[in-house]
Amino acid sequence: MTNLTAIELSATPLPVSGRKRFVIVVDMQGDFVHVSGALPVPDAEAIVAPMQDWLAALDPETTAGVLLTFDTHVPDVYAGSPESAQFPIHCIHGTPGWNSVLDAGAIAPSIPVYTLDKGVFDMWAESGLSLKPRRGDAIDREAFFANLAAEGLRDVTVVGVAADFCVKWAIEGLLARGFRVELPASLTRGIGMEADAVVAQLRGEESAVPAG
Ligand SMILES: [Zn+2]
Repeated sequence: MTNLTAIELSATPLPVSGRKRFVIVVDMQGDFVHVSGALPVPDAEAIVAPMQDWLAALDPETTAGVLLTFDTHVPDVYAGSPESAQFPIHCIHGTPGWNSVLDAGAIAPSIPVYTLDKGVFDMWAESGLSLKPRRGDAIDREAFFANLAAEGLRDVTVVGVAADFCVKWAIEGLLARGFRVELPASLTRGIGMEADAVVAQLRGEESAVPAG
């Protein structure tokens, strides 16, 4: 069960000591981040440099891993999807707009880095998705997060775009799986709502859930 303390808004990522934290970087792709992208999130370019610096400075002692999610579309499939009624096509696989604007190679080599390609905004919506590690075999998403929880990991920091869409749904899925989530306002941007409003909304949903 989620509770009122499971989601935390911070200005910048909180220092971590004595416990491990997992990091999810949501959809930091050209089409969302660049002003010239297919579906630009306002002011998203401003978070690229600080996010890159933060990722490069992550401490292997306190970082269990970093997952980068990729919104991934194929034109024929997208044309008939619910998302297409609301947004123009974006993040077509293999185009520059699909690529990450970050250099994941700057993350300390001893921190495991994973990627997840998803066909809809919500990283939890599709069954059968897998995380791909830097090397080795893909890992089923549900098995991966169940394993993190089984290892005692509780805390996840979520950054990226858009705060009121993919980021919010990523957080909802984490809360539903029993994780505590930190959302640093300096490392996210929204389309119609910013981090503070998103956290307030998520807390409202949490308080609507009966205790226990
Ligand atoms: Zn999309």
